[in-house]
Amino acid sequence: MKYKEALLYRRYDNRVRCFTCIRRCILREKASGFCGNYMNIGGRLYNIGYGLISAHESRPIEIKPLFHFHPGSTAYTFSGWGCNFLCIWCQNYSLSKVKPLEIVSNYIPPENMVRYALLKGDDGLCASFNEPTIHLEYLVDVFRIGRSKGLYNVMVTNASYTREALETLIEAGLDAVSVDIKGCPKSYRRFQGIANPIEILENMRYAKENGVHLETVFLIVPKANDGLDCIKWVINSHLKYLGPDTPIHINRYYPAYRYFEPPTPMETLYRAYEYARELGIKYVYIGNIIDTNYMNTYCPRCGKPVILRSQYSTLKCNLTEDGRCKFCGEKIELIGRCRETRLI
Ligand code: SF4
Repeated sequence: MKYKEALLYRRYDNRVRCFTCIRRCILREKASGFCGNYMNIGGRLYNIGYGLISAHESRPIEIKPLFHFHPGSTAYTFSGWGCNFLCIWCQNYSLSKVKPLEIVSNYIPPENMVRYALLKGDDGLCASFNEPTIHLEYLVDVFRIGRSKGLYNVMVTNASYTREALETLIEAGLDAVSVDIKGCPKSYRRFQGIANPIEILENMRYAKENGVHLETVFLIVPKANDGLDCIKWVINSHLKYLGPDTPIHINRYYPAYRYFEPPTPMETLYRAYEYARELGIKYVYIGNIIDTNYMNTYCPRCGKPVILRSQYSTLKCNLTEDGRCKFCGEKIELIGRCRETRLI
């Protein structure tokens, strides 16, 4: 195990304040922050989860989900322990609800993580499963090495990083993010104890304006964020902050961890999908359902399928070399080349 001094903190006498995520915890001596990954040791803030890995494996980019970023590629995906959010329906609770000091786990140096990606023949690296922001120092080291080796760097995140943390990640080589929007202000207050998600939305806009590819995910959870007002707030905010070209994934919830409401009704998902389309969002998807027609990318001009998917495989790319619809020539929002893959 190796503790690493935090990149973003300030000292106040013997207390320190962490500026990694928007919780901005103030820690007295020997205390750890909300996420369990930072500790005040002798008036300095350390990341005590640095390189302690809970899972790592090669995965398709579509599973993040990122549908408009190197379609058909794979990313070596890794996670640590703990989280700075409290979702009681978390699918990854076995690692997100465990803090680094509560478990014995493997230390994997950043250069080894990159080496695994290269050995597997992956196209990039992805920090996922738990909130990656709380491993900022590790991400910076992995992303820098990854970029120097020609790999892309992506994160699946709740976008609760501070502006300083986001700038640090961009500088280290962050290429794309899949951002989970948890709902409207009421949902953030009730389930995350966050008064206002505006900083999160502004972070998303800043990332996009600074060259990071971005797609949003809205997991509609019954009795948590499924009211029509809440759904409209999320979709309107997506449009306002990110514009109509940014893809949105409307995902179905299934019971997990400590939340046992039945899965999201299909009508709710279809209603949200139609609302997003009516507002003019060009790329709208429904995820976690059997009907894969809602996972295809359709040309916003002629309506024909430009990328056909089956679950997390890219079956057919109807795109020109320069990323245009093969049928009508419309430019499609896309980073990288579309690659057809086998069914998994
Ligand atoms: S990263 Fe952890 S310690 Fe730092 S502000 Fe966020 S929750 Fe608190």
